[in-house]
Amino acid sequence: MLSADDCLRYCAMEFTCPHCKSRLQPCETPPFHIGDGLGWGAEVMFVCMNDECPPYVKGWDHIEATYGHVGSYRYMRIHNEKKGELMMVGSKIAFTGSILDPDAVIAANKRHQQEKDWYDQLDDSVSSKDLTPAMGILLDEHASKKHRSKACDTLLKIKDISCYEAISNHEFKNTEVEFKVNSTLPMLLKVCFKKECPDCAEIIQVKAKKCKHCQKTFA
Ligand SMILES: [Zn+2]
Ligand SMILES: [Zn+2]
Repeated sequence: MLSADDCLRYCAMEFTCPHCKSRLQPCETPPFHIGDGLGWGAEVMFVCMNDECPPYVKGWDHIEATYGHVGSYRYMRIHNEKKGELMMVGSKIAFTGSILDPDAVIAANKRHQQEKDWYDQLDDSVSSKDLTPAMGILLDEHASKKHRSKACDTLLKIKDISCYEAISNHEFKNTEVEFKVNSTLPMLLKVCFKKECPDCAEIIQVKAKKCKHCQKTFA
């Protein structure tokens, strides 16, 4: 993925379409080259996304007549090349999904940095009994499996039952992480000397003879 700095640098570059004078949009290059099979040689290309651009408007009929399939042309150029070229596109939406969004890149970068900072704090969070780094990573669906697994192990060392509810209420989308969480929660109860009341599911002392929430009594 592009770094936030690179993304902002590309978004600040200004190029104009020679056919329609629209400003070209920075797009992440696809992993393959439609034409000759060679790489694009750049991570970003600038594309005229104006649907009124003359070569794009005329391209549909031209490609239909010449090649017998659906397609048109958009003007594109690479930032360090002197001029661009017309590039064949197969649909109206080609490249629309890869237009650089600086806000999204900044947000993704920030999230990634936060995950990294929390991960670095995991070991120290055991002695300080700080749940924030482990909970932050575990409940972040974008965090890596490895980091989330270590967050589970860290929670077992911190032994603070107050994190139990947030974890059991969270919907884990990754099955491996979900599996790890499902095996961690009973262990967490155990190390905290707690149990779940079989009637009301509230967390109570493991030795309790009576549930303080629903008054159920235990033999
Ligand atoms: Zn244009
Ligand atoms: Zn109960």
